[in-house]
Amino acid sequence: MTDMPPLILWFRRDLRLADNPMLAEAAQTGCPLLPVFVLDPETESLGAAARWRLGEALVAFSQALAAKGLRLHLARGAAGEVLERLARATGASGLWWGRLYDAPAVARDSAVKARLRGLGIEAKSFPGHLLHEPFGIQTSGGGGYRVFTPFWNAIRARDPGPARPGPARLRGWDGDPGAGERLADWRLGQAMRRGAAVVARHALIGETAARDRLHDFLHGPVADYPARRDRLDRRACSGLSEPLAWGEIGPREIWHAARSVMEGAQDPGVDSGSDSGAAAFLRQLGWRDFAWHLLYHFPQMGARNWRAEWDAFPWRGDSAEAEAWRRGRTGEPVVDAAMRELYATGRMHNRARMIVASYLTKHLLTDWRLGLDWFADCLTDWDPAANALNWQWVAGSGPDAAPFFRIFNPQSQAQKFDPEGRYRDHWLKGVGADDFYAAAPLRWRLDPAAPPPVPLIGLAEGRARALAAWNAGKA
Ligand SMILES: Cc1cc2nc3c(=O)[nH]c(=O)nc-3n(C[C@H](O)[C@H](O)[C@H](O)COP(=O)(O)OP(=O)(O)OC[C@H]3O[C@@H](n4cnc5c(N)ncnc54)[C@H](O)[C@@H]3O)c2cc1C
Repeated sequence: MTDMPPLILWFRRDLRLADNPMLAEAAQTGCPLLPVFVLDPETESLGAAARWRLGEALVAFSQALAAKGLRLHLARGAAGEVLERLARATGASGLWWGRLYDAPAVARDSAVKARLRGLGIEAKSFPGHLLHEPFGIQTSGGGGYRVFTPFWNAIRARDPGPARPGPARLRGWDGDPGAGERLADWRLGQAMRRGAAVVARHALIGETAARDRLHDFLHGPVADYPARRDRLDRRACSGLSEPLAWGEIGPREIWHAARSVMEGAQDPGVDSGSDSGAAAFLRQLGWRDFAWHLLYHFPQMGARNWRAEWDAFPWRGDSAEAEAWRRGRTGEPVVDAAMRELYATGRMHNRARMIVASYLTKHLLTDWRLGLDWFADCLTDWDPAANALNWQWVAGSGPDAAPFFRIFNPQSQAQKFDPEGRYRDHWLKGVGADDFYAAAPLRWRLDPAAPPPVPLIGLAEGRARALAAWNAGKA
């Protein structure tokens, strides 16, 4: 029988046991715990691949909790209402969660906090999604950073705090929270249709898989990371963005693991500014924090040009060319290979993301928000901050962005980063092509035997058109 009211733990993008400050502190209270996940309207609006991937994350996390004797309670509806009802029904002593920093989440969480406190229920939030809280890092003049290098200089030697292992024991609440929802009824993979089965073969799901990947990466590929991370035809990167996006692994755990590898290898390390091995890897992790730092300080970053002068730029809206880009039918082999990789795996190599983003925004002169939305629909590692920062970075409209006149030539990029054409051939002719056709919607009416598409625009012509638009805007 239940003798104490539960402490409700509201999980969102922190679906892990280890390096979870909220869970670590909750375990120490000795209170009986009631973990809950709410499918609220904000979560319902996720893109197709992200919704599917969330469902997989919830399966894995429920199992991890069950192994500790806890049952993940599922609820659906507006978070404030659902959580108030649950807190009242269970007589909860408190409701805790791990912080998120995008504007819709901040607004929702502030409202939940006010509502519960109004009822006399403790409402408390915790860090854990980032290395450093976005409001905890400030320039000497106050306010947030706008440029990566000084931001990185500010955090690279700073201890992000401990990454505690998953609690050895957790005490589940044995009361009745009322009928929960069934995950299967949410049909989170529905919009993926037949693509889900294909993307599933490429996914890295759950805390254990993420930790194993981290270990393998840090004891192998990391040594060659600086030299090979841009190679499209090599597996030289960690692949951790996907579990990071769902909080199946925490950034502090990655940070400390990489630092101990550096110490073991007597790597001069991030503090020295060295760009070797684990240090270069941690610098990329710094970009993730930077993206969230910017999104927190500029909540419109995912919807509006960071620099207002770009509002007058003659971006093109949706078009047949943009649709060809989505379907991997631009006629530029490396662009099409990358767009197929995205559709069939839910991921894309970082260098390829830059190439396709540059092609869309410059050669096709198309608004970066169109690309941002397609990525949001297709990526299993979708992250609102990283997606927005990087799209604006490539388009030239963002803070600390690449200048617009830096227009990637897809062919020279391919020569440099896929010199033997292995990446291209895998996605255009090999096993990858099979995967793509198996995942692609039937309504696209793709014919694997059709000849390759004619390029939408000559590379020199597209470049000249983009520069002319930019020069006209400058004048
Ligand atoms: C147009 C565009 C859109 C992008 N959209 C997303 C997105 O929605 N979600 C996402 O996680 N990343 C996004 N990125 C960043 C980057 O491409 C991915 O983080 C990276 O490919 C993930 O692979 P990895 O885990 O093997 O990275 P690694 O090279 O192993 O890097 C380690 C970690 O550092 C972080 N990181 C690396 N590069 C970046 C970067 N440029 N910006 C922010 N964080 C970075 C990631 O968390 C990554 O897991 C985007 C990049 C571009 C150019």
